[in-house]
Amino acid sequence: MRFETRLLHNGNEIDDYTGASSIPIYQASTYHHFHIDQPGEYDYARSGNPTRHALENMIAKLEGGCRGFAFASGMAAISTVFLLFSRGDHLIVSQDVYGGTYRVLTRVFSRMGIEVSFVDTTDLEQVSNAIRSNTKAIYVETPSNPLLKVTDLRGIVAIARSNRLLTIVDNTFLTPYFQQPLDLGADIVVHSATKFISGHSDVVAGLVVAKEEEIAEQIGQLQNSFGAILGVQDSWLVMRGLKTLQARMEASTKSAEKLALWLEQHPSVKKVYYTGLPSHDGHHLQDRQASGHGAVLSFDVGSEEKAKQILNKVRLPIVAVSLGAVESILSYPAKMSHASMPPEVRQKHGITDGLLRLSVGLENADDLIDDLAQAIEEKVWSVVAGK
Ligand SMILES: *Cc1c(COP(=O)(O)O)cnc(C)c1O
Repeated sequence: MRFETRLLHNGNEIDDYTGASSIPIYQASTYHHFHIDQPGEYDYARSGNPTRHALENMIAKLEGGCRGFAFASGMAAISTVFLLFSRGDHLIVSQDVYGGTYRVLTRVFSRMGIEVSFVDTTDLEQVSNAIRSNTKAIYVETPSNPLLKVTDLRGIVAIARSNRLLTIVDNTFLTPYFQQPLDLGADIVVHSATKFISGHSDVVAGLVVAKEEEIAEQIGQLQNSFGAILGVQDSWLVMRGLKTLQARMEASTKSAEKLALWLEQHPSVKKVYYTGLPSHDGHHLQDRQASGHGAVLSFDVGSEEKAKQILNKVRLPIVAVSLGAVESILSYPAKMSHASMPPEVRQKHGITDGLLRLSVGLENADDLIDDLAQAIEEKVWSVVAGK
């Protein structure tokens, strides 16, 4: 079965007991032991809950892994994966990784003796050069935020395999609909399911999928030990959102392509970052490792003043952090996601004061273009006679 069919037909579509058309929300923390000597599949809900399991099975199948795990947030998922490592281990991590991932590595895991090198993973030579005798994994996010830099996943996997390292990929931006890192040889995929997977800006959640049973076993033990599980109501909401993933990704991506082309020819826009544009450095690489370009793009309008004018004047997108929702979301990296980065460092990485990031939703693309057009337009002061 193809992807969109599997979104709907995956073993969860009919409740075995009642025939209900969606998996029930098993709002229970513990389970009766029918036979003391033969415990059932479930005993306590931190260790397992049928509603959460339905979601975990669903994401495992979609990513092509052996087991999935649902967590209370993307950061809970990512942090639990880092608990695979121990004092003295070294990790290589994409330089422009999600801010929360950077923070937990540099402020929390560093205190526990886990060493990290942040490198530009789009340059495979830098990745190879960063490997030490104690390196255990390469962690990449592709495309990256907010400049959509593309890392060669097959290249990373080749380096990782020849050095016996794990490859971990944050697949939040493209979702398994467009990119399946486990198929390209990665060992673990992580997600902020808060974004495209759930898709409606109404739930915070994280997911992990392991390719092989050995790692899945370890992650399962860590999930149960650390306990940052996703609640049952939110598990159900994520599944509800996931059913329409294909339809949402297709429609939003189509609009993102249209908007990117329109922005690229706009005289007030200095640069557009979208992997779907042939002008983007990662365009061809993205075509080789993913089946689409996604619904997030960034554009530089040259100055803080202009960026603020647009943020103040847009009417359709909400102005906010986050991405991947049915409604468009316009964010300002310099003051939002990357505010804690020193201005010189930000500028050096291209995250200028004029950079805006747009996560394209399901509004009509021409309405979004009209709205951006009026927001970008210079104020024209008409000369009133007599003044
Ligand atoms: C939002 C995000 C995260 C963190 O997820 P939360 O659900 O906010 O904890 C991690 N990675 C990427 C790429 C994200 O966009």
